Amino acid sequence: MSKVLVLNASYEPLNITTWRRAVVLLLKGKAEQVEHNGKYIYSGFPLPTVIRLRHYVRVPYKEIPLTRKNLLHRDGYSCQYCGYSGDSLTLDHVIPRSRGGGDSWENIVTACVRCNVKKGNRTPKEASMPLSIVPQKPYSGLYFEVTKHVKNGLNQEWRKYVIGM
Ligand SMILES: [Zn+2]
Repeated sequence: MSKVLVLNASYEPLNITTWRRAVVLLLKGKAEQVEHNGKYIYSGFPLPTVIRLRHYVRVPYKEIPLTRKNLLHRDGYSCQYCGYSGDSLTLDHVIPRSRGGGDSWENIVTACVRCNVKKGNRTPKEASMPLSIVPQKPYSGLYFEVTKHVKNGLNQEWRKYVIGM
């Protein structure tokens, strides 16, 4: 069933919830409807897709696990050296592990097999293979979840509430 983006009172995205939970927040007066998709739960009550809390809540930063899946998602499932996007993508240590490069968001990128083999045990500079973008830690776990939804063709109306999309 459809998901609802919850905005903080400040309009910053806060989390993603189920439509049922969102409706409860609306009925209790804890949130207001910001966007709906034109479908109705019952007459005069549209199904929300974005709601906003009436009171500001503070949330701690949540770490995003450094996993293959998350790295591929950050890199848009494309090789960060040549732009190839297709099957059998690998992960490449920008500074090779054997030369002290660690496991971090800043040092691991998506690479196609060809580029990974070609680069071998060298740095991008030594291999004359510049990265298309400087790899970074994702902005926040929520940002990550929201971009996944939008990239999968869901909830396009969420786009305007997320910076940099
Ligand atoms: Zn490549």
